[in-house]
Amino acid sequence: QVSDALAKEGPSSPSYDWFQTDSLVTIVIYTKQKDINLDSIIVDHQDNSFRAETVIKDFSYIIHVGLSHEVEEDISVRVVENVGKIEIVLKKKETTSWKHLGHPLENHNSLIPRKDTGLYYRKCQLISKEGVTHDTKLFCLMLPPSAHLQVPTGQHVYLKLTITGTEIVKPYTPVSDFLLSEFKEPVLLNNKYIYFLIKVYPDGLFTPELDHLQIGDSVSVSNPEGNFKTSQFQELEDLFLLAAGTGFTPMAKILNYALTNIPSLRKVKLMFFNKTEDDIIWRSQLEKLAFKDKRFDVEFVLSAPTSEWNGKRGHISPALLSEFLKRSLDKSKVLICICGPTPFTEQGMRLLHELNFSKDEIHSFTA
Ligand code: FAD
Ligand code: NAD
Repeated sequence: QVSDALAKEGPSSPSYDWFQTDSLVTIVIYTKQKDINLDSIIVDHQDNSFRAETVIKDFSYIIHVGLSHEVEEDISVRVVENVGKIEIVLKKKETTSWKHLGHPLENHNSLIPRKDTGLYYRKCQLISKEGVTHDTKLFCLMLPPSAHLQVPTGQHVYLKLTITGTEIVKPYTPVSDFLLSEFKEPVLLNNKYIYFLIKVYPDGLFTPELDHLQIGDSVSVSNPEGNFKTSQFQELEDLFLLAAGTGFTPMAKILNYALTNIPSLRKVKLMFFNKTEDDIIWRSQLEKLAFKDKRFDVEFVLSAPTSEWNGKRGHISPALLSEFLKRSLDKSKVLICICGPTPFTEQGMRLLHELNFSKDEIHSFTA
């Protein structure tokens, strides 16, 4: 049941209903919200338990039932955006008439704060793994046909593996296939695939195990998390991205989103900090994109370059930032995103405040 207290604090509570034909069961969620899209709904059907989580601002509305009859593995999800209606279609295994949808499970038909939902996992299959740099690989995972999950721009998920009897969980930020498509054909555009750029640390706890998985092996993937909101892009004119090492991962989707969805955008600049040239992730794709889209520029800064390197050198510094962070117009609306090793991000944040950028103009990606 939706508690009155929560309903008062949060958005007005959604409701649901279900309908059937001989072959289909359709579950309809009335969200009572207008800004609902396919990122807002996460659906799973595992071990006869059906779960649908609708994300509404900082709350989740959960449908969670043990279905009364068996259904086929594949599900389909549709969102009618202007009325905030979500339709989930299940295929009956047998053409019998269902008397009820099923029995309620944990949190069924309740609206709860997102932070209280706990991490929910589904098993995904490793589809491919390919080298991107000497130590970073692109992993492609496939969702089960019984799941619908899209990771919003700027958010991450947790990957879980059981290593010598213990469950180990680490956060990773999916990248879009937008930069990939520059060189990889055909691109798997189907939403069933999630791509990750992951650096393998030989003495790390999690990444060597992930790297040892065989194609077809499974990895558990959690629901998305994170406090970045694409509403931060509203009316944006200048977007500055400061990334170090794999701190580039949130920037990949941000770049794609900003360049395709923000009409007010004039300039996107990426300053990408790495140790050596060999460490730069997707260098040629980024250079090609800068060539193709005049709004985008990329600058590489190396902390341990060879003597042949003609570009910028060193760590993040006042000199580098004040030169880089030039607004395209005197009062243009800016957003600066920063992500990398903790000391990099902390130092960067300090410098940005010293340069008089306000809290609203900065988004830092941290643990
Ligand atoms: P760890 O066991 O954590 O070790 C990593 C390295 O640190 C090793 O070289 C190890 O020797 C060294 N080390 C460990 N402990 C210490 C210590 N006490 N002192 C000094 N050195 C130590 N990573 C990506 O590659 N891609 C992503 O998309 C990505 N997204 C992320 C998103 C978020 C929100 C966060 C917080 C992190 C993200 N990371 C990402 C980092 C990722 O979660 C892991 O931290 C990383 O993969 C290392 O995990 P590991 O268990 O293999 O290594
Ligand atoms: P790395 O060791 O290869 O370093 C890359 C660059 O970071 C260096 O060239 C340097 O310019 C800068 N740097 C490193 N240490 C610094 C320091 N002490 N002070 C100032 N600058 C420093 O980086 P990596 O191994 O690829 O690590 C990437 C980091 O990004 C990891 O710690 C990972 O957890 C983090 N990350 C966070 C998120 C997130 O969303 N929070 C996402 C992805 C990655």
